[in-house]
Amino acid sequence: TIVLSVNQLQKVYEGKVPYQALKDINFKLKKGEFVAIMGPSGSGKSTLLQVISTIDSPTGGSVLIDGKNPHQMVKEELASFRRRELGFIFQDFNLIHTLTVEENIMLPLSLEGVPANEITKRTREVARYLGIEALLPKRTFEISGGQAQRVAIARAVAHQPSLILADEPTGNLDSKATKDVMNLLKTLNKEMDSTILMVTHDAYVASMCHRVLFIKDGRIYQEIVAGDHESEF
Ligand code: ADP
Ligand code: ADP
Repeated sequence: TIVLSVNQLQKVYEGKVPYQALKDINFKLKKGEFVAIMGPSGSGKSTLLQVISTIDSPTGGSVLIDGKNPHQMVKEELASFRRRELGFIFQDFNLIHTLTVEENIMLPLSLEGVPANEITKRTREVARYLGIEALLPKRTFEISGGQAQRVAIARAVAHQPSLILADEPTGNLDSKATKDVMNLLKTLNKEMDSTILMVTHDAYVASMCHRVLFIKDGRIYQEIVAGDHESEF
């Protein structure tokens, strides 16, 4: 099954001089695929992730997530769709520092209206699964960057989203923590059949994915499939 379908996607930033950041982007992610996007600074990676994550809207083409077009939804419907279907992982973790680790992981579940006892159960389960049970009562400033990213991953997957979007998840981590976080994402991908789209600058990180899409000047110009030959666009 296709989880994400990006079709002739275009994004023009209006302004004195309009700028076309995305020219004609086409690709699909099947369920259980782990795909990286690489490209030089200014090539359109953030824009692409922002449009797919519905933070921003396209000026042409479409994005379908589980066959639904979030950009055509009204505000309330979109908010609920994002909470249910998407999981976000950021470079700077985006944890809330006034909350404990456990409360951070619980937050998306409570926003979704999951019953309290179910929230506690699922939070404990995901923490055990990701090996961060001991961190649950801690404050976010008491833990390391690598631990913070594990917590952020737990928060992103606790509601079992259809699609996980990760924006340079290892960008602020040293090589040991990078390895740990990537192993965790690989495990999630394999064992839970999670579908992950990740922007990265790190060739080692990209090499752990099934496919790498290379973007330049708002176009995908190359795709490399793991253990396969390169295919030119
Ligand atoms: P990347 O993430 O690959 O570094 P971006 O998607 O951030 O690239 O940017 C792609 C291009 O679009 C760049 O030339 C950038 O300056 C431009 N751009 C990004 N966001 C905006 C915006 N809000 N308004 C105008 N131009 C933008
Ligand atoms: P990165 O290279 O890490 O993706 P960027 O510096 O390209 O980061 O972009 C950071 C943020 O600034 C993004 O949200 C992007 O949309 C915005 N941005 C980038 N270029 C412009 C621009 N020319 N005008 C307005 N916003 C921009």
